Amino acid sequence: LLKVTDLRKTFRTKGGMEVKAVNDVSFDVFAGETVGIVGESGSGKSTAARILLRLEQADKGSIQFDGTAIEHTQGRALRALRREMQMVYQNPFGSLSPHLTVGQAIAEPLLIHRIGRRAEHKETAAELLKLVSLDESYLERSPATLSGGQRQRVAIARALALSPRLVVLDEAVSALDVSVQAQILELLARIQQERGVSFLFISHDLAVIRQIAHRVVVMRNGCVVEQGPTQAVFGNPHNPYTRALLSAIP
Ligand code: ATP
Ligand code: MG
Repeated sequence: LLKVTDLRKTFRTKGGMEVKAVNDVSFDVFAGETVGIVGESGSGKSTAARILLRLEQADKGSIQFDGTAIEHTQGRALRALRREMQMVYQNPFGSLSPHLTVGQAIAEPLLIHRIGRRAEHKETAAELLKLVSLDESYLERSPATLSGGQRQRVAIARALALSPRLVVLDEAVSALDVSVQAQILELLARIQQERGVSFLFISHDLAVIRQIAHRVVVMRNGCVVEQGPTQAVFGNPHNPYTRALLSAIP
């Protein structure tokens, strides 16, 4: 579904220093699977995600989505691409406007992309809420009155409103406590089974990645140090850095 090849992005700081945020990164995401990107703070995970979603321009490298090069996609084609790829952030307030009800927030992408009739949006929002195990009573609530876990469920429902084929989740459960994390991870696995959607799941938390990802990409200082099936990488890491990371979790 997604093929990333030799992606590179260098930032220049005001002091003239160069930061190779993403340094020749390559990986694939196949249809219906979850790929985890793991690495400590500053390793380039979010920068890579932002480039994939065309929120940031890479210096070099190619990105293919469903066989089509997208690294220079703009205008109408970019709008179409945005329907296929969605993002969920650590802080769902980033995507949930406090001025909208939960129902409006979930349906907003449909409005933006002019999909379906307005009168049907509420029904669609209710269905999406059900998908994330929240009942209709949440439709009229303000996102501000929700718990962190509920808010993240709403953000996931919103991300699914356009039936994307890929959802990028950047530290989407990192702010939640462990039991709520587990519920969200189960929810994502169920949604994947029902809808065949692919997830690119970014986290610094190896325990979370181990639970959710079919394959894992380990990043350090902008580079991929190791990648492969989660069981293989976690069970028998080849890179000393991966081994060091793994030794830190129980
Ligand atoms: P975290 O786990 O803390 O979210 P990350 O792996 O997502 O970290 P990035 O946010 O991708 O890391 O940052 C990678 C590197 O690029 C860091 O050194 C960061 O300071 C630098 N960087 C990111 N965005 C910019 C920017 N707009 N300007 C300059 N440097 C940047
Ligand atoms: Mg980040």
